[in-house]
Amino acid sequence: MDQSVENVVIIGSGPAGWAAAIYTARANLKPLVIEGDPTSEVNRQQGTIPLGQLALTTEVENYPGWPAGHTRELLKSALTDESLPYWVAANKPQPNHGINGPELMELMRQQARNFGTRIVSKDVVRVDFADRPFTLTTHDGQQVRTRTVIVATGARANYLGMPSEDRYKNRGVSACAVCDGALPRFRQKGIAVIGGGDSAVEEATYLTKFGSKVNLLVRRDALRASKIMQARAMENPKIEIHWNTELEEVLGTEEAGVTGALVKNNKTGQLRELPVSGVFLAIGHTPNTGFLVGQVKTNETGYIVWTTLARTYTSVEGVFAAGDVADDYYRQAITAAGTGCMAALDAERYLAHHGHV
Ligand code: NDP
Repeated sequence: MDQSVENVVIIGSGPAGWAAAIYTARANLKPLVIEGDPTSEVNRQQGTIPLGQLALTTEVENYPGWPAGHTRELLKSALTDESLPYWVAANKPQPNHGINGPELMELMRQQARNFGTRIVSKDVVRVDFADRPFTLTTHDGQQVRTRTVIVATGARANYLGMPSEDRYKNRGVSACAVCDGALPRFRQKGIAVIGGGDSAVEEATYLTKFGSKVNLLVRRDALRASKIMQARAMENPKIEIHWNTELEEVLGTEEAGVTGALVKNNKTGQLRELPVSGVFLAIGHTPNTGFLVGQVKTNETGYIVWTTLARTYTSVEGVFAAGDVADDYYRQAITAAGTGCMAALDAERYLAHHGHV
């Protein structure tokens, strides 16, 4: 057997990636996880840091097995590593703490390592699925050859794409409240959050810890967020919901960064300036499939297409997809972990069928 060819390479390090790693490691396939580059400025800016979107979130209340009341001491004893740089220091556990996103991800990573998973902290920038074994190229030009690939690179937050938004990125404009919300520039100031889904409500609620008032700009007259999250937004006295309202322009100066948001009521056409020091986008996601273009079938919005019902097969035999990168519908940590497990079992069966294990 060619020792320089991997059995399974998992690209991505969210719940799908680690579930796939745990299963393939326990099946003795010696998986390699390419988890992403934690030092990349691009990754920081677009929210594609290792450990995925959960590394950018706060309390996780809906992942089974982590009821409120857990202690940080228990978590510490389970981890053998020092906290990694992307552990979000702002997330102080509450008295009724269950688990937060970065903690959950660190524990999944550790669980995969405990079974011998090898981890490389790089980005995959190119793949060649035309020839076998497949070749993956990382950002520093290294190549990895492998018999199977599990793509678990997830999705990232969208921006509106207006020039003023771009101009003030990192100076008041952000798509990650948990990463940036605690910055001094937002303290006791007005903040705007754009969007009406669970992310928008979660970000708005989180930002009330820092800002004096959070303006939630919703383009329709209803929230898309789940009922429990809607109630949280409506009951929070520091959140004002602006219905039928869209961002026209981010206002600011060279020195101060963001100083306001010009918003428009799309029913009346009325323009209004809100005094805010921050504009947080929470308007949905784009799958991280740029490095796969032309290599595997994707849908019109870039999500990988599963080609067989209830299987993680892609258009390329031996390439499997798990988690949000192939799911624009459920997009939950638990569904990502579930499909990560499925991809691991699919890869194991593929390797056995071809006589590799
Ligand atoms: P969603 O797709 O659910 O919501 C996106 C929101 O952004 C919608 O309200 C949408 O408006 C709005 N929007 C989209 N484009 C624009 C635009 N150009 N201008 C203004 N508004 C815009 O994305 P989320 O990130 O909120 O959630 C994704 C998934 O993750 C969901 O399944 C959600 O349940 C889950 N999630 C769960 C959490 C939890 O359970 N704690 C926390 C966060 C996310 P419109 O409604 O008009 O389309």
